[in-house]
Amino acid sequence: MELRLNKVSKTYPNGVKALDEIDLTIQPGMFGLLGPNGAGKSTLMRTIATLQKPDAGELYLGDINILKQKMELRKVLGYLPQQFGVYPKMPAEKLLNYFADLKGVAHPTEKKKIVEYALEVTNLTDVKDKQVAGYSGGMKQRFGIAQLLLNNPKLIIVDEPTAGLDPAERHRFLNILREIGTNNIVILSTHIVDDVKELCTDMAILNGGKILSKMNPRNAVEELDGKIWTTLTNREGEEQLSQELNVISSSFNQDNSLNVRVFSENRPNENFEAVQADLNDVYFVHLKKDEPTLQPNA
Ligand code: ADP
Repeated sequence: MELRLNKVSKTYPNGVKALDEIDLTIQPGMFGLLGPNGAGKSTLMRTIATLQKPDAGELYLGDINILKQKMELRKVLGYLPQQFGVYPKMPAEKLLNYFADLKGVAHPTEKKKIVEYALEVTNLTDVKDKQVAGYSGGMKQRFGIAQLLLNNPKLIIVDEPTAGLDPAERHRFLNILREIGTNNIVILSTHIVDDVKELCTDMAILNGGKILSKMNPRNAVEELDGKIWTTLTNREGEEQLSQELNVISSSFNQDNSLNVRVFSENRPNENFEAVQADLNDVYFVHLKKDEPTLQPNA
């Protein structure tokens, strides 16, 4: 089963074009949708989840025409929105049973099994009798995954799930996604490059409502090998370099010096050293290419 989007567009009443003719095909596995804030990720996720309508375009999950067969899609969808809202003061297991009822899991044995599975996969079995309202941010996010697993979804959408999680919780959360991602389509929308790097076999970069590129992360990094160069400079030096070269990122050192990374086919000058490209470079190169001025330095 694959998810296919065909020329999906959305302009909000205020004139913001959030989605601009999105064409995208997504296969089972972990798919990363990477883009800066305001790129259109949430709009796209909500559109796939049937929570809002595009102005134009078509969306299919296998044979399901998503715009015409909303209920069919919802039966096989697991969606974790950016803001899940307020949880009632109810123990996790009880709340999951309640959600399972809402999702139409009628058979008691089946319900028991799926609730146990959801708690186990998300490492919440030990705290199943505690109120979800009292959970930490990371536990709440894991509970969000537990609730979306109750209807055995074929398509799972998680929108910016790691924002605000501490490193240990973020790691735990990504491992859970990895576990549930093998047989299903899992779309992880994020602005954090490392989330995609650690997890996804396929990805797309979204900016200004457009897909800039769809790629295999590893291949994309390989393609940049030999084209990323670094030098040490200061603030003024960086400004100067930015005018002459394609500076894709810079980071401060403790002594306030700056490591600058440049995208160039050849070594810009003797002050530069070649460095191993990484997915951050891929991301910044694509975002910069989207700006009209950037072409690789010859
Ligand atoms: P992302 O999830 O990548 O941050 P969004 O889909 O939330 O992006 O937003 C894309 C663009 O659409 C942004 O410019 C945002 O301000 C705008 N936008 C989002 N929702 C609405 C809305 N309900 N009304 C008007 N503009 C919106």
